[in-house]
Amino acid sequence: MSSNGTLIPHSRPTIDPDDIRAVTEVMGSGQLAQGEKVRRFEEDLAFLLGRRGGVATNSGTSALHLGLLALGLGAGDEILLPSYTCVALLHAVRYVGAIPRVVDIEPEGYNLCAHESRRLLTRRVKAIIIPHMFGMAADLDHLASLGVPLIEDCAQALGGTYRGRPVGSIGTITICSFYATKMITTGEGGMLLSDSNVILQRARDLRDYDGRTTCETRFNYKMTDMQAALGLSQLNRLPAFLERRRDLASRYTGALRNLPITLPAVKPDTAHAFYRYVIGVDDSARVGRRLNQRGIQCKAPVFRPVHAYLEQEGFPHTERAMRTALSIPLYPSLTEEEVGTLLGVAAEELQREEDHPRLASSLRF
Ligand SMILES: *Cc1c(COP(=O)(O)O)cnc(C)c1O
Repeated sequence: MSSNGTLIPHSRPTIDPDDIRAVTEVMGSGQLAQGEKVRRFEEDLAFLLGRRGGVATNSGTSALHLGLLALGLGAGDEILLPSYTCVALLHAVRYVGAIPRVVDIEPEGYNLCAHESRRLLTRRVKAIIIPHMFGMAADLDHLASLGVPLIEDCAQALGGTYRGRPVGSIGTITICSFYATKMITTGEGGMLLSDSNVILQRARDLRDYDGRTTCETRFNYKMTDMQAALGLSQLNRLPAFLERRRDLASRYTGALRNLPITLPAVKPDTAHAFYRYVIGVDDSARVGRRLNQRGIQCKAPVFRPVHAYLEQEGFPHTERAMRTALSIPLYPSLTEEEVGTLLGVAAEELQREEDHPRLASSLRF
């Protein structure tokens, strides 16, 4: 616990009275399930990302599953995905019966390595799933040059940009997650976006199970209007959320810059959404324990890498990230008092890392 005995949680949703009003209004309207609010949420997010359309779902994992189905992927198809990411990606790939081909991340940073992806390319590779980890855009131009459909996973990156374009505006398919503590929330929820009418129609069709004369395998992946009302209200505040996240990030960087740690790097042609503020330390487990003991809840941002689930070896950069990456609390609802406490404690505890060998120099971009 910190000096005043309170815990600063690693993440927390940001809900204001407008959000509550929006949901309450739907609850009294008689239309709770998928309806007009869902349609508007799809339109508004598609507009923001410059996409033809969106298909809202009950989770990001569902959106990814529908995306793989809409691309017609299944048994015998290979799909590239990074090891250092959310295990939801592996689940979706396996759910359609495709073969996961796990790729290491870049030597510096946390995103899928385009060079490694090229090395693993075969005729059977039919898609690449690209999460923009922690809010930083992956190397999209290079990945696009591989000539395979790209699925941008914007679960952590809504509001980030890549070479002047919003992340999520580039891949054949984009998926988003609106889990409680993502960039914007609907409690649980997700969306698939695309410019292809065929993909949008297939995904919309597969989201629901009823009203067909045949009964091939289907499921129910629909979002409710209560969730979409919250999503619309949150979307209005996305610019303010981003401003707050970026302001906090630059203050953290200012306060921590002379410590023996690696700070988050931002490539010159990207705008980081700062979903997470991830520092590199010698031993993230040890430093995390110390910060937790002092009331700052820090986490390894990836619980277990994908290659470990598959019992594969040879992912040195993912292993490096697992050993060194530590996510410290950064979200719009942090109070100024919490920020002050957090930076004070972090500066003290991270200074103690000096008695340990310094990490490779900070990232060069
Ligand atoms: C959260 C997350 C998902 C899964 O989204 P859910 O809404 O929890 O199903 C997928 N990919 C990434 C990178 C995530 O952070």
